[in-house]
Amino acid sequence: MELKSVRGMDDLFGEELLRWRRVEEIVRNVFSHFGFAEIRTPALEKIEVFSRTVGDATDIVEKQMYTLTDISKEQLVLRPEGTASFMRAVIEHQLHQLAGPQRFFYYLPMFRHERPQKGRLRQFHQFGAELIQDPSPEADAEMISLVDTLFRKVGLREFRVRLNSVGCGTCRPAYRELLVKYLKGHIDQLCEQCKLRLERAPLRVFDCKNESCKNITAAAPLIADNLCAACSGHHRRVQGSLHALRVPYENDPTIVRGLDYYTRSAFEFTSSALGSQDALGGGGRYDGLSAQFGKANFPGVGFAAGMERVMIALAAAGSSAMHESKPSAFLAPLGEKAFELLYKMSFELKRAGVFADLSYDREKGLKNLLKAADKRGAAWAVVVGDDELAKGKALIKEMKTGTQEEIPISEIPTYLQTRINRAP
Ligand code: AMP
Repeated sequence: MELKSVRGMDDLFGEELLRWRRVEEIVRNVFSHFGFAEIRTPALEKIEVFSRTVGDATDIVEKQMYTLTDISKEQLVLRPEGTASFMRAVIEHQLHQLAGPQRFFYYLPMFRHERPQKGRLRQFHQFGAELIQDPSPEADAEMISLVDTLFRKVGLREFRVRLNSVGCGTCRPAYRELLVKYLKGHIDQLCEQCKLRLERAPLRVFDCKNESCKNITAAAPLIADNLCAACSGHHRRVQGSLHALRVPYENDPTIVRGLDYYTRSAFEFTSSALGSQDALGGGGRYDGLSAQFGKANFPGVGFAAGMERVMIALAAAGSSAMHESKPSAFLAPLGEKAFELLYKMSFELKRAGVFADLSYDREKGLKNLLKAADKRGAAWAVVVGDDELAKGKALIKEMKTGTQEEIPISEIPTYLQTRINRAP
């Protein structure tokens, strides 16, 4: 029997994994500069963490959760998204009792039983952030600016930010009624799924990709026109902050997000490089979520972005983060004595942050060693043989230009370091 990976769950290795690591490092640095501390929650959670909170009427909870019953008959779920687990952890450890606002980020695999296609997997990775205990519009703008910075720093340029407000407990119920009334007037033109959504989560009809449903929502009443004074004030201030922070965005009254716990700001980042699954990430304010866990009531705003989609968009943009990782120096020993010296030097270089590759084959001969250096894509080859040892010098060849010079062996590390630091 040939064993294969689970459909929609990928292995990651080689150059692709190195590319991921470079992007992950940038992402972590940006989070740290914005003052976000990491949190890691377990992959398995009790089913209620999602079913009672994320909302029954979402695709995630209804159709996409990987559920299992363990030996003690407990129903568990492989985490399909980050925010509900985060809230469970905050409340369990009473982190919300500490002085706020607090800022957290996560970078974790998520599991959803979706139909796999490009940019849509069953195990995928999200990085996301949550800012809790602060209801202000400036916090919403901070979150959008954070995502904007993250995407720019990893090398993305072609993306759009769409912003909307989904109102609050004061204005949304009345709007919901208005929308349901309108949709009921066009029920024949709605798809089967939207007919079901009509009662349970009518705002989600805006998410439907069906042409006929899109035609109906195009003329539907919009939440943006039905916000209460507090929500429209909040929305205006979010936009004012984005202007002040010079984050470009567009207003889009159809952004409603799939999840029930959002209040006020909802936003989405898309990239045309992605094809039909064009969402890079999204988020919003979720002031209503903590109360669903029973014991707490504090505001929050957050986002989640899909790592796989970021990588696809980066590859499409030919970003520099996509370049293969090649050694700066290939150390080529001719004979045992030279090997001993270069072996030690290769580690000295590695410790100093220079990617130095060394051939463990001391009998290869100059021609083959240079061939190997070329094949590995090294920027420089450092050749040491008996002649060089006698002179205390090494031959350094710049692979791209073919120019070579002899320099004292003791100066090799500094020689490489200064040149590498100058490289673009
Ligand atoms: P969501 O939690 O559904 O708001 O998703 C946030 C982001 O995660 C999306 O914008 C995507 O970039 C990514 N994402 C969601 N579902 C998947 C999936 N099945 N495969 C890959 N990426 C996904």
